[in-house]
Amino acid sequence: MRIVLLGAPGSGKGTQAQRLVERAGIPQISTGDLLRAAVARGSELGRQAREAMEGGRLVDDALVLGMIRERLGEPDTRRGFILDGFPRNLAQAHALERLLEALGQPLDAVVQLEVDYRELVRRISGRRTCADCGRVFNMLTSPPAAGELCPKTAAPHRLTQRPDDNEATVAERLRVYDEKTRPLIDFYRARGLLRVIDAEGQVDEVTRRLARALGAPLPAPRRTRGASTAKAAASKRASAGAARARSGGTARRKRSSLRSRGKPAAKTARVARGKSRRPGSAGRGRLKGKRR
Ligand code: ADP
Repeated sequence: MRIVLLGAPGSGKGTQAQRLVERAGIPQISTGDLLRAAVARGSELGRQAREAMEGGRLVDDALVLGMIRERLGEPDTRRGFILDGFPRNLAQAHALERLLEALGQPLDAVVQLEVDYRELVRRISGRRTCADCGRVFNMLTSPPAAGELCPKTAAPHRLTQRPDDNEATVAERLRVYDEKTRPLIDFYRARGLLRVIDAEGQVDEVTRRLARALGAPLPAPRRTRGASTAKAAASKRASAGAARARSGGTARRKRSSLRSRGKPAAKTARVARGKSRRPGSAGRGRLKGKRR
């Protein structure tokens, strides 16, 4: 499975990619993570990327493409990969297409994660990352469980906030997304690769929508497989989700149905369906930008 996760900052690409890694056993390739690692190492690439990242702008295409070319040449990508945060503009999308063609490994799907502007801002402000294992939490919606330990250190997670998760930089990142990355929706729709999912709601629920959009039931993560209580809880959550889907559900669902313009049950794989959902009124001015 070779897929791209497409979505605004805070739409949950990283979180969902981590879940796909656990379930599908293919690597996540996050250009943001690779760039942050380069900055932390103090490498030449990191030095060149740092200023753009701190300002919420895109890092130079040549740097990012060099990094991607190198990463896709590693053997663990032969069985597939999840690209998270790349491509981010049309030039990168064209370059990726050429690179994958040369490797004989075309993309299977591009999944766009749709989230309302206000929710994006809320998620980003609550986001914290464990400095040791890299797991992403949200202090408002998905904090570490009581007593949860970092798998790397066996101590409590060391939660840190990304330097570009401050208000001014977030506004710029969302603007850049709208201007540079949003056109990729049409690019991939034209190639028949686009799937769109509603990425609001519980993380588990979004993972199920993602699995459905990919047309592949994802097995439970390896570490919980076989644990009967976890299985029972998962199946309870799944049937509760199905019941909600049948009944047309909660207030949040109704809101998103309105935004989906009369397609209340279309939670997954709204493949190549007209326009994507526009941001909520609070952010419309900023995120909507010009029509392209
Ligand atoms: P988010 O999606 O939350 O903005 P990322 O971790 O994907 O966060 O990216 C953080 C920053 O790294 C971006 O704001 C940008 O400066 C840089 N970056 C990441 N991926 C790319 C890319 N494909 N092209 C250019 N810059 C990138």
